[in-house]
Amino acid sequence: MQSIAVIGGGITGVTTAYALAKRGFSVTLFERHRYAAMETSFANGGQLSASNAEVWNHWSTVWKGMKWMLRGDAPLLVNPKPSWHKLSWFAEFVGNIGRYKQNTVETTRLAIAAREHLFAWAQAEGVDFDLKREGILHIYRDKAGFDHAAEVSKLLAQGGLERRAVTPDEMRAIEPTLAGRYYGGFYTESDSTGDIHKFTNGLAAAAQRLGVRILYGQDVERLASDGRQARVTVRAGHGGAQEHRFDGLVVCTGVASRDFAAQLGDRVNVYPVKGYSITVNLLDAASQAAAPTVSLLDDETKLVTSRLGTERFRVAGTAEFNGVNRDIRADRIRPLVDWVNECFPGVNTRQVVPWAGLRPMMPNLMPRVGAGRRANVFYNTGHGHLGWTLSAATAEMVAEQIRDASERAQPRFAGGGVAAASA
Ligand SMILES: Cc1cc2nc3c(=O)[nH]c(=O)nc-3n(C[C@H](O)[C@H](O)[C@H](O)COP(=O)(O)OP(=O)(O)OC[C@H]3O[C@@H](n4cnc5c(N)ncnc54)[C@H](O)[C@@H]3O)c2cc1C
Repeated sequence: MQSIAVIGGGITGVTTAYALAKRGFSVTLFERHRYAAMETSFANGGQLSASNAEVWNHWSTVWKGMKWMLRGDAPLLVNPKPSWHKLSWFAEFVGNIGRYKQNTVETTRLAIAAREHLFAWAQAEGVDFDLKREGILHIYRDKAGFDHAAEVSKLLAQGGLERRAVTPDEMRAIEPTLAGRYYGGFYTESDSTGDIHKFTNGLAAAAQRLGVRILYGQDVERLASDGRQARVTVRAGHGGAQEHRFDGLVVCTGVASRDFAAQLGDRVNVYPVKGYSITVNLLDAASQAAAPTVSLLDDETKLVTSRLGTERFRVAGTAEFNGVNRDIRADRIRPLVDWVNECFPGVNTRQVVPWAGLRPMMPNLMPRVGAGRRANVFYNTGHGHLGWTLSAATAEMVAEQIRDASERAQPRFAGGGVAAASA
């Protein structure tokens, strides 16, 4: 049996480890935190949203972005201080505008494929993650937004997704708690929501039951490969290091993937696009009744919502280009709370838990899935704003590719082992 190291214990790493274990690989997962899903896969928007598959590479995003740069409370914030990383990312973003339609259709297909695996795994392994299959309602305040969404619907349909236009009256029937005046909406019945942190931890336990060795509290310092043997060097006490050897490895390290890829001779231009969420604790029966159960996406404010069980209501959004910075800014949290007060006035917002996370985003908004330069190095990373939605499909894809590669190169794969190395 071949030994594979999976680096990173977020949603992409855990699903990858699980999919590999199911195929009979001997898997070791390295995660620097004490638990799975403590970074971007901790408190995201919760949406399993094929209906949000539209990639952002569109001229309208660029114009909106420029307009928003002048407003402090805008959904997008760009630190104007230039860096090569940011500039190269934006240049590639614009360079991919020509692939907008193709990539939107492809993302839709991936999102639909992911559902099947994710639901099957949760059921087979008894993972409870507050799954709610009540659809996602996109809401629009003006005709321009609604008309653009109608065009997007055509692309989603090409990818196999059905979503329907709804009138303000129909919107009220779908989600009676939503206050405010709207031009119209689009409803995707087949979409759903759930708690990514709960799911990832549940699946990590299932992976362990399948024999995956999960090494928590392991800060990986360096990755290397000669194409036959992969080496994972982990920081050890007193400035030391420990080297582990495997037949192959998969990089699933979220926003750290760019640096690890560089160590392995690959370019994976992930940029950390920061977002915020609040989790409103619905403390009383009145708040529980006044909070929505259908998931929403407000296109103007770029906020998404999910109802997690009876007692939690999650609201997430905003995009900030400011490097690896995890600070939770009060002035970026405020608009999320205000939005809840405005759209769901019956919800008590006395107790909200703020959070910030970094979306590992590729400039073409497509995840990087597959082999690197070296034959035994693979990536499943860069899922940006849709990692929760897409991971089950990309984990299956990369696991299949690794199986094919290992079958092709069977004689080359040797056994794994551990060796100590000094720093
Ligand atoms: C505000 C917000 C809202 C979002 N809403 C949605 C949504 O509604 N639907 C959706 O589909 N997606 C959503 N996303 C995106 C989704 O959350 C991410 O795409 C996904 O969580 C990324 O998972 P990951 O495994 O790539 O990264 P992570 O979850 O960050 O996992 C990477 C792991 O690698 C580990 N790691 C890194 N470096 C090292 C090292 N040196 N040694 C050891 N371990 C290391 C980290 O500790 C981490 O656990 C949202 C994101 C944000 C920020």
